[in-house]
Parts: sequence; structure tokens; C-alpha cells
Amino acid sequence: EVSFFWFRRDLRLEDNVGLFHSLQSKYPVIPLFIFDDAIVESLPETDPRVGFIHENLSKINEKLKESQSSILIKKGKTLNVWQALLEEYDIKEVFFNKDYEPYAIKRDVLISELLEKNSVLSSSFKDQVIFEEKEITKADGLPYTVYTPFKNKWLEKYKTMAPVAEYDSLSLLQNCFKRKFHFPTLEDIGFKESKIKVRDHNLKFVSNYQDIRDFPALDKTSYLSAHLRFGTVSIRKLVNWAFHKNDVFLSELIWREFFMQILFSFPKVVTQNFKAAYDGIQWRNNEEEFKRWCNGTTGYPMVDAGMRQLNETGYMHNRVRMVVASFLCKHLLIQWQWGEAYFAEKLLDYEMSANVGNWQWAAGTGCDAAPYFRVFNPEIQQKKFDEKGVYVRKWIKEFELGYGKPMVEHAMARDRAIVTYKAGIIK
Ligand code: FAD
Repeated sequence: EVSFFWFRRDLRLEDNVGLFHSLQSKYPVIPLFIFDDAIVESLPETDPRVGFIHENLSKINEKLKESQSSILIKKGKTLNVWQALLEEYDIKEVFFNKDYEPYAIKRDVLISELLEKNSVLSSSFKDQVIFEEKEITKADGLPYTVYTPFKNKWLEKYKTMAPVAEYDSLSLLQNCFKRKFHFPTLEDIGFKESKIKVRDHNLKFVSNYQDIRDFPALDKTSYLSAHLRFGTVSIRKLVNWAFHKNDVFLSELIWREFFMQILFSFPKVVTQNFKAAYDGIQWRNNEEEFKRWCNGTTGYPMVDAGMRQLNETGYMHNRVRMVVASFLCKHLLIQWQWGEAYFAEKLLDYEMSANVGNWQWAAGTGCDAAPYFRVFNPEIQQKKFDEKGVYVRKWIKEFELGYGKPMVEHAMARDRAIVTYKAGIIK
């Protein structure tokens, strides 16, 4: 008789809500991770995110060994894996943390039904956010679609409970099932080491966040994004700390929850404009131009530096993400879904809610988005945020030699975008 704790995007033993509850169940707990074929099969074999997951599972495994236990790793279709586990073990209860992406919600319903059919209890927990689903709503119970009132309500609610409770899962690890499971190598699961690595997070500059955050050359933002994506840091610990540290930084963590709430309440945003009024825009969608954007050869240094940083490191500074996204949608009139998909493939911190939300913000099609007539001028952005050209020189090696001609002239592209948007908006 055993319980299971199913790790997914919560790859840590500290302050892990679902793990904490599982370790209080009556039965010894088998920690489990499944490399889900539905997700990993479409990835290149050097995908650095799989390497990062593997590395963190290995750390978890090492820690579990201290209490004579280990993590069970499986690869396959989740449903098949669970069917096999049900045959192999006398499972009494299964615990996991909630994931709010549309695919994950469907998968979890399917698995919970399978467990129920086999008379196994399953329990899911809020772990990756402070407030989930419908916890922050307008007075009429409907979801917020504008950030500032969402943030105000979020803060009001947080203050009534601050600091939010943390969960000492770490001190209960002796309740894990005592067995050494085989720990597979990255090659065993069909992947290879990538040169691209997730950077450690860095909270050193958070107290000056408002002064440093917009300057990509400083490179002093927290690098928390990939860690929050895979749950290698706890959002509760982070927010309890950030609350006393810096309001602007805390606001960014609330943006993260805002977009998660939008995705949960309006799952259509994954592929469709949040504002249907923008469905009539005639995108140019030129494939050659898209390639130039992807490769960082548009002739605009700020855009090209950003895309090269992304291609080389799997990361791009937020200010530059805004510039490249605006450039794709407005200057080139390529629909945001193309850019969103490219980011999804490349970003180590790829998070569906934040990526879709920010892309729709840049395209002007999202909730609380930049107005369509606001077209970033990539040269002015560079002057403002990389005045000395330190960032662009870092990523464009040939920069000193005189840089290429812009692929589209700004004033023309700006006017074309405004005319096209105006004509496409459905009244
Ligand atoms: P910091 O500036 O130190 O911020 C701290 C944390 O706040 C971040 O780790 C993140 O969790 C959160 N945060 C900050 N800005 C935003 C924001 N605008 N929206 C939501 N959360 C935010 N972020 C992702 O995590 N995944 C994505 O796939 C993603 N795609 C983006 C696409 C575009 C077009 C744009 C403009 C932004 C995108 N962002 C995304 C938001 C933001 O750029 C990154 O979170 C940030 O650059 C990560 O670096 P950091 O952790 O050092 O950020």
C-alpha cells in the first residue's frame, strides 16, 4: 500500500504543497516524474529545458537518498504510465499540484477519472501561484481583464494573510517509500546535453529593481522566470520576501499571476485574439521577412541583438522582448501567433500564459494591451535603453563594421501598421 506524489512543474522538495500533503498521508510515498510523450516527443533532442528538468530531478533524487528513498522516473503517454503503475502497485492515494494550462487541465481530468475508476483517491493543490483560478475576481464574480484593478485586489487580499503560509515538506521526507529506483540518464530518455543552460536566479539587485530593470546591458534582473516555470523556487517564499523588498518587482510577480488568471478564464487566448474586434486585420505574414526576424538580421540593432540573444542563450531581456514583438507585429505585420510559437520553441522560461499574454499585449489584440497606434521605434528604444550600444555590441559581433540597412523604413512601416490596423478593426 502506497501513495504517490506526482511532480510536474514543481521540481523542488522545499515548500511544495502537494508533496507536503502526500507526506502526511497514511502510506509511504513514491515520488514520481513522467516525461510525458505528448510534450517531449515534439522537442529536439538537445532541448535545454529537458536537460534542466533532468538536472533538477537528479538533485531531488540525491536529497531523497538521504532518507533511503528515491524518485521514480517514467517516460510515455501519461495515461499508459498510470495504467501500468496501477497494475504494479497497490496505490491508495495520488497527490499533485495544479497546472492551469489547457492541456494539463485535460490530462489531469483524464488521470483523475482513471484513478477514481480504480478506487484511488486523488488530490490536487494550489502551489505555483499565490491566488489561482477565481480567487481574485471583480465584485460581480467575473474575471478581471485589466491589470491595475487585478493587482489592487491581489494586494488587498495578500495583505490580509501576509506572510502566506509555507509548507515544510522537507522535514517529512522520511515518510517516502524506501526504495532505490533506477535513475535514468538524459540519454536513457532520448535526449542529449545542450550547450544552453538555465542561469541561476539572482536576487541581489531587487532592491533597485525600478532603476535597473529596463537596461538590458546591465543584465541585473532576477532570472527567476525559468525557475518559476519549473518550480525550482517557491512562489510563496519569493512573494513573502519581495513584499518587503520592492513594490515594482512585486508588481511583476503579480503580472505573472494576472496572465495565468487570463489563460485560466479565457483559454481561447492561446490561439485567438482576446479582442475579437482585431480578427479582421490583414496580416502580411511574409515568410522571408519572418526568417530575417528569427535570425536577427532585420538591420535594426536592438531587434537583432535581442533575437541573437534568444537564439544563443534561450533568454531575452524583457525590454527587448517588447521591442522585437512590436517590430514583428507592427513593422512587419506578421501575426503574433508566429512570434509566440518561435518564442515557445526557444525560451527556457517559456510559460504559455506569460508568452501569449505579452505577445497579445504587443500586438494590441490582448486584454489591457498597448493601443494599436503605439508603434515602438526600435532606434529610439535603443537610444533610451542602450544608449552606449553595450547590449547590441555584445550580441552583434559585426556591429563595429557598420551595421546593415534596416529591412523596412520606420516611418513607412509605422504608417502602414496604423492604416492596416484601422482598416481591420471590426466595429
Ligand atoms: P524580472 O524582471 O526579474 O522579473 C521577475 C519575474 O516577474 C519574472 O521572472 C516573471 O516571472 C515575472 N514577470 C516579469 N515581467 C513579466 C511580464 N511582463 N509578464 C509576466 N510575468 C512577468 N515571461 C515568462 O516567464 N515566460 C514567457 O514565455 C514570457 N514571454 C514573453 C514574451 C514577450 C513578447 C514579452 C514582452 C515578455 C515575456 N515574458 C515572459 C515576460 C518577461 O519578459 C520575463 O518574465 C522576464 O524577462 C524574465 O526575466 P527575469 O526573470 O530576469 O525577470
